[in-house]
Amino acid sequence: MKEYEIAIVGGGPAGMMAAIAAEGKDVVILEKNQELGRKLLLTGGGRCNITNNKPIKKLLDSFDDKNFLKHSFYTLTNEKLLDLFRKKGLDFVEEDDNRVFPESEKARDVLKILKEYLEDVDIIYDFDVYDISKEGDYFVINDYIKASKVIVATGGITYQETGSSGAGFKILDTERTNLKYGLVPLIANYNFEEFAGINLYGVSVSYKDKSYLGDVLITHKGLTGPAILNISNEISKDLDYDLLENFNVKLDDVKIAIDLMPNVNKEELLSKITKDFQAKGKSLLKNYLKYHLTNSFIPFFMDQAGVDGEVKLGNVLKEDKQKLVNALKGLELEIIGFNSALSKITVGGIKTSAIDSKSMESIECEGLYYAGEILEPVGISGGYNLKIAFSTGYLAGLSASKAL
Ligand SMILES: Cc1cc2nc3c(=O)[nH]c(=O)nc-3n(C[C@H](O)[C@H](O)[C@H](O)COP(=O)(O)OP(=O)(O)OC[C@H]3O[C@@H](n4cnc5c(N)ncnc54)[C@H](O)[C@@H]3O)c2cc1C
Repeated sequence: MKEYEIAIVGGGPAGMMAAIAAEGKDVVILEKNQELGRKLLLTGGGRCNITNNKPIKKLLDSFDDKNFLKHSFYTLTNEKLLDLFRKKGLDFVEEDDNRVFPESEKARDVLKILKEYLEDVDIIYDFDVYDISKEGDYFVINDYIKASKVIVATGGITYQETGSSGAGFKILDTERTNLKYGLVPLIANYNFEEFAGINLYGVSVSYKDKSYLGDVLITHKGLTGPAILNISNEISKDLDYDLLENFNVKLDDVKIAIDLMPNVNKEELLSKITKDFQAKGKSLLKNYLKYHLTNSFIPFFMDQAGVDGEVKLGNVLKEDKQKLVNALKGLELEIIGFNSALSKITVGGIKTSAIDSKSMESIECEGLYYAGEILEPVGISGGYNLKIAFSTGYLAGLSASKAL
């Protein structure tokens, strides 16, 4: 049996960062793929939105589990994270909504530097961990590796082709929440074929009392874009299902509303269109809407609003003006499914109540640590999920190392 001080299960961003934080110790990474960071390479469309640079308090406020994440975020701040890469020649740019990307726009460069830091770490590829048992002060993994500390960083249960197949939830019996699709495109109850490619910029999408500002992209299969992906997390949290039990999720009576003009309220909008309609009485309604909506989206919009676009502005009835305002401020769409193959993240995981947030150590099992997407906290799109992976990974590695 091979012996190590720390064994890390999973070589994604969380596992790699845990190994970097445990520098100087005798560490092994056990990775079932033939390479590290397969999912990392896909991030940000291959550009890697590595973190979000909002001020730390504001950043924490955007997570349901901010109290749990706080210590890890303060332990590996964005400054410290980015400096790790800057020291090796990779700089970063900040785009809108505080999203940070490598200047080279290549996730591959992020992975390359992480691997440079791992030169002194043993990495065993093609090593699928199926058993972890505790024998006295040691953990035994697959009857082959012996280690004083184990960090489980096996990721979630979605995008399984990258390696995250939910194994970490089955190997040990640490308490978990239900596992659900997150940051997932939505399938709406409409044939969007002829509208595919239309982008609705800067709209607000809401589900019940939650809403997100951002772009919405119409695709052949339905809806995607940051605002849709973010609201998908809220829909998932609200539904009762568990991906470890069943991958087919039925959505019943799920409706979202798109506010196409989030910068004005209903009263202001009604007053504006009433004035415009008086001034431009001879124009057709469908032509007037071109000033407010993407041209090719207008037929779908008119249909949903239930108003005839061929009517002259001067002849639009009062009740139809109200219908238009209602549809512009809350275009209601029925959602009938998740485009599950594209779910970027797992909502839910190892319960925060089962983990000491100051160390990432299991409360029940001394010497066992968790990090990354396998944990319950989940972020919206914009660098928030890699932030969780790197920060919790760093804290787990540091804590395991100190506890030796
Ligand atoms: C298409 C896509 C784009 C994304 N873009 C962004 C983005 O731009 N910004 C952002 O913040 N987040 C993004 N994310 C989310 C981000 O990739 C994850 O949050 C992050 O990868 C989680 O890191 P992790 O190390 O916890 O898990 P993973 O990256 O999933 O790594 C887990 C590792 O464990 C290994 N493993 C699993 N089970 C075993 C086992 N039994 N034995 C051995 N090894 C095992 C896996 O093979 C894998 O290498 C994106 C996700 C996807 C799918």
